[in-house]
Amino acid sequence: MNYRKAILFSAPSGSGKTTIIREILKRFDCFEFSISATSRQPREGERDGVDYYFLSPETFKQRVAAGDFLEWEEVYAGTCYGTLKSEIDRIWDNGHVIIFDVDVNGGMNIKKYFGPDALAIFVMPPSVAVLNQRLRSRGTESEEAIAKRLARSAEELKMSDQFDVTVVNDLLENAVNETQKIINNYLMKE
Ligand code: ADP
Ligand code: 5GP
Repeated sequence: MNYRKAILFSAPSGSGKTTIIREILKRFDCFEFSISATSRQPREGERDGVDYYFLSPETFKQRVAAGDFLEWEEVYAGTCYGTLKSEIDRIWDNGHVIIFDVDVNGGMNIKKYFGPDALAIFVMPPSVAVLNQRLRSRGTESEEAIAKRLARSAEELKMSDQFDVTVVNDLLENAVNETQKIINNYLMKE
């Protein structure tokens, strides 16, 4: 198998991509998560260098100017996220396939960059009502942050057809099994 590959997951916030990625990482030992940089504050339980590289807004800007990012987006007003070029080398040097969790624009940019060496998966919530409910039940965001995420979700959902495949995350076990099959098929092609 050619390990110089990537699987990317995009979806509106709250669709369940982090949850699916965690399950997928348990089922494949050839994968490694691309740790993004962000200018947002860590949530309770999130660790620097594990969940994200947490940068101050100033440091984030300096690293953009230095050309350190493969892609970056101001996903929510005032909050930036980006993929550091160094993550690609780090993970491929470890002999692993990269797993990305990025917003839909980042997903499209990464897909353009990797071409057939990346599989772009869109995680679809069963409905907007369920998305709303999941964001609230996660309990990690203020009302303001939830509103920003929901406001963005309509545009993001429209972009699903630009991805290689869509997985509906209704029952988690089914979504993870389907994702596992899709990834297996993709990796076997090489
Ligand atoms: P994302 O990474 O897309 O923002 P998360 O993985 O954080 O989303 O999931 C949002 C919330 O929904 C979390 O509280 C998670 O436990 C819950 N969740 C994820 N998938 C499912 C599912 N299939 N059924 C019910 N709850 C789910
Ligand atoms: P959260 O704040 O919920 O962790 O993430 C918010 C959004 O930012 C999610 O849609 C997530 O996929 C996206 N995101 C995380 N890392 C990156 C990145 O490196 N690049 C881009 N473009 N989006 C990212």
